[in-house]
Amino acid sequence: MKGVLIIAEHLEGRLAPSTPELITTGRSLAAALGGAARIAVLGSGVRELADRLAGYTLDVLLAEHPALAEYTGDGYVRAVRGIVESNSPRAILVAHTSQGYDFASALAGAMDLPLVTNCLGLDVDGDRLVATRRLLNEKVQAKVEIHSERPIVVTMRPGAEKPMGPGRGMMTVTAVPVVIEPSAIRETFLRLERPQVQDIDLSGADIIVSAGRGIQKKENLVLIEEFAKAIGGVVGASRPLTDMDWLPKTRQVGQSGKTVRPKLYVACGISGAMQHVAGMKDASLIVAINTDPTAPIFEVAHVGFVADVLKLLPATLKELKA
Ligand SMILES: Cc1cc2nc3c(=O)[nH]c(=O)nc-3n(C[C@H](O)[C@H](O)[C@H](O)COP(=O)(O)OP(=O)(O)OC[C@H]3O[C@@H](n4cnc5c(N)ncnc54)[C@H](O)[C@@H]3O)c2cc1C
Repeated sequence: MKGVLIIAEHLEGRLAPSTPELITTGRSLAAALGGAARIAVLGSGVRELADRLAGYTLDVLLAEHPALAEYTGDGYVRAVRGIVESNSPRAILVAHTSQGYDFASALAGAMDLPLVTNCLGLDVDGDRLVATRRLLNEKVQAKVEIHSERPIVVTMRPGAEKPMGPGRGMMTVTAVPVVIEPSAIRETFLRLERPQVQDIDLSGADIIVSAGRGIQKKENLVLIEEFAKAIGGVVGASRPLTDMDWLPKTRQVGQSGKTVRPKLYVACGISGAMQHVAGMKDASLIVAINTDPTAPIFEVAHVGFVADVLKLLPATLKELKA
């Protein structure tokens, strides 16, 4: 039991951004264990996706079956059970997404495997796996030692790891047999519901200018948008702003919103509550603007301005235009 099995997540032929992040974790974990990382792609008509994944220089296990055309926990568990039994991986990595945690708990339950969820890191210490998790509303970082003779199912938080890009070589794609009795699937896929407004994906943005309650009124968002545009960024927000519908939920950064890792994050009138910080603390450069010098955001900021954002941004824009 030295290998690592990664479960790819995809929708309509597109790989979820969390999958290349799982590849990063899976490859370094497999190297530390002295085994190989493999990735399983489940679906129907997903050969092209499997070929693309082989370019990430890890072996691909392709499980195709009409019953896997859409995700269902029952279908995925039946397909992955056979892969786990024949490969005996030490760890099975799944993204902590809504599909991922549905599947991971179903797999762990069906195969009686230990499950560790929402991890930020996974390392090897001697013969133990050590998962990093945050507890008590993100206040405490815990290292969880996992002792098990059985494969361990681990869900990894999206955004916790840098995504691995495709490498130079191509690895093999091996089709694995899948037997699924239609009656074994208790869930029925009805339809895919998309958000009505097609919005930007904050998790891929390099520059984010986020607004908090300190901007005081919705009309002031224009200023944040103008500043973000001037520096080539997009607008994010703290939760109160999305709760008040000043911006769509897709723009919320934090524990119950998006985890982002931009090159530059400008926090405008954001106090720095731990639930917000959980989603942006890994930005390469954090700039905070807040009137309160004791605001917790300054504890994570690399550059801080104790200033009124409604005065500082117009002045900065004026300089940028000049
Ligand atoms: C389970 C749970 C999940 C949560 N998830 C999230 C989440 O995902 N994301 C999130 O953001 N929050 C989340 N929250 C809410 C979080 O706890 C905070 O309430 C929220 O982040 C505060 O938002 P804020 O900083 O914009 O507002 P406030 O805390 O009200 O801070 C406003 C800040 O603006 C400053 N300010 C005021 N006027 C100005 C000015 N003119 N110029 C500059 N600065 C000014 C003030 O000094 C203050 O620091 C969650 C809470 C819970 C309980």
